[in-house]
Parts: sequence; C-alpha cells; structure tokens
Amino acid sequence: MTLPTPAAAPVVRPPLRLTCVVPAYNEAAHLAAFLEALHATAKTLTSEVEIIVVNDGSRDATQAIARELGPRLGLRYLELSRNFGKEAALTAGLAHARGNAVLLIDADFQHPLSLVPEMAALWRSGYDMVYGVIAERAGEAWTKRVGTRLFYGLLHAGSSIDMPQHAGDFRWMDGRVVEALRQMPERNRYMKGLYAWVGFRSVALPFTPDTRRSGESHFSLRNLVMLALEGLTSFSSLPLRVWSAAGLIISFLAICYGLWIAIEAMLFGNPLNGWPTLAAGLMLFSGVQLLSIGILGEYIGRIYTEVKGRPLYLLAEDLDHSALNPAARA
Ligand code: UDP
Ligand code: MG
Repeated sequence: MTLPTPAAAPVVRPPLRLTCVVPAYNEAAHLAAFLEALHATAKTLTSEVEIIVVNDGSRDATQAIARELGPRLGLRYLELSRNFGKEAALTAGLAHARGNAVLLIDADFQHPLSLVPEMAALWRSGYDMVYGVIAERAGEAWTKRVGTRLFYGLLHAGSSIDMPQHAGDFRWMDGRVVEALRQMPERNRYMKGLYAWVGFRSVALPFTPDTRRSGESHFSLRNLVMLALEGLTSFSSLPLRVWSAAGLIISFLAICYGLWIAIEAMLFGNPLNGWPTLAAGLMLFSGVQLLSIGILGEYIGRIYTEVKGRPLYLLAEDLDHSALNPAARA
C-alpha cells in the first residue's frame, strides 16, 4: 500500500545543488565503482554535486578509496568513530548536506541509479520527497517477507502517522525536508517513521532492488527485529494500550467468576474447590504481568537513552573536497 499522492503544486525550483549521501559499512569491494557511477549520474543533472560518503566504522579500505577519489569526484568524507548503524550514518550525512536537494542511496548498487533522473524530474515538478518503494521482494527469504508484513501491519494499527509500507531509505528530498529532519532530536531513530512524520508533498516511486554487488546484507534477522522494535516503540503506544485492555477484560472476568463462586456456595452449599483452576490461573496471570512489565521496560529503556542525550554519532574524520563547500568557491 502506498499513500494517496497529492498532486504536485507548480513551483519554480532554484538551480539544483545536489548532495548525495552514501552510508558505507565495509563496502570497499565495490565502493570505487559505485562512487564513479553515482558521480556520472549526478553530473548529468547538475554541475553542482557533492557526494557525502559516511564511513560507518568500516574495517576495510573505505578510507583509502575515499581519499583517493575525493578530489576528483568532489567527495565529502565523514568517518564515524565506530559503527553506529545505518540510521546514525544517514543522520550524519544529512547534518552535513549543503545542497538544496539530497539523495540518499546505498553503496551496494541495490538502489538503481537509473531512477535518479526520474526522482530529479519529480522534484522539479513540485514534489518535496520522492521515495523508492520496493515493488518486489522476490529474492528475499520467506521469514523476512512474513516478518515485514507483520511489522507493517502492527505499525499501521498502532500509529497515528500513515507510514508508507516497503519504503526504504532510497529517496530524494528537498532542502526543506532535510531541514525538518535535522530538527528531530531523538536518539532512538527510526528514519522511515521520521520521514513520514515530517510530511511535505511526497510521491512513491516503485522499484525492484538489484542484487547486491558483493558481500552480504548487514541486516541479520536479529538486526531487523531490533529495528522493528525501534519503529514500533517510537511511533506507537499500542503495545502499552493492549495491556490496559487485557487487564480490564481479565479483571472483569475475575469479578464474574468470583460472584459465581459466591453464589454457588450460598445457593448449593458447594464446598470451595477448584485448586487446579487457581494454580493455572495464577501461572497464566504471572506470565501476563511479566510480559507487560517487559513491554513497559522497553519504553522506559528508550526514555533512558533519550534522557542521557548522548550524541547520535561521533566524527573521527571530515575530509571536504565538496564543490558545495563555500571555502572552495571563494
Ligand atoms: N550500512 C551502514 N551501517 C551499518 C549497516 C549498513 O552504513 O551498520 C550501510 C551499507 O553500507 C549500505 C546500506 O547501509 O550502503 C544498506 O545496507 P545493506 O545493503 O547491508 O542492507 P539491505 O540492503 O540488506 O537493507
Ligand atoms: Mg543492500
């Protein structure tokens, strides 16, 4: 499902100054080829291009590649002090973007470069955000497909914000959207939710991801479950509410049962029995209580990280060969 798409309002866009943000975590095997290809594509759109490579704590030759290609391709190279995760890497890239439009794209050739001109055209026609929506998940394991379905179903049920399903981080954003995203202070970042939260005129662009050029996805089942928890707790309080409702229903049933026991004893002189029921009930409700405390804990843990207010990422290096660097223009 995609969101209803508001028609683009006719706007006059200023000349495009494009920032491409590329998060890279151990992508050295194909990074040089990717950056060359991205540069070539971007140059067909405008002469003012900067490519921000965010090295998310890679343990490979990413740094050497970026240093070598930097001056020629106009790279901005940001190195995080360790692996902070893709969401933090994107945040770092967005924080340093200087263009009036930003393209987020993975470094593994999975996001087709051939769609970038179309994104630019949609932006020019008045859309502030063009997001890629995965049209086909053919190559993915069934566990991942079922899990994704379940997650989007829960999120849709529990969140007041309509988040487009199967939309990834492949997207083109106007400078105003980027500015809005920069104002989001939260530490627990579920980017897909944040994109939807800021709003603006958005349009979906269906695409089929290409196969990864080399290496493997960094998102294991465990990572995806963590990300899903992040999304659910950041954008929905349904898990908390479910337990209030369950508590209410269980209490009501307990009262009915209590009344029934009393009536039975008074009318029929039934001696108190039903110890097995008691034992089973006790175990069931202890379990339910622990579960609901655990869910509370998830939220409290997140409040704790927010309260600590630590930076989202730390920069270890910042090499600026960008054409959009004001110093470079002077
Ligand atoms: N990535 C990152 N930090 C991480 C994991 C991934 O910057 O901790 C980058 C990775 O280099 C790639 C993009 O995020 O450019 C998407 O990662 P991947 O291809 O592993 O994910 P998938 O395509 O399976 O969603
Ligand atoms: Mg990938």
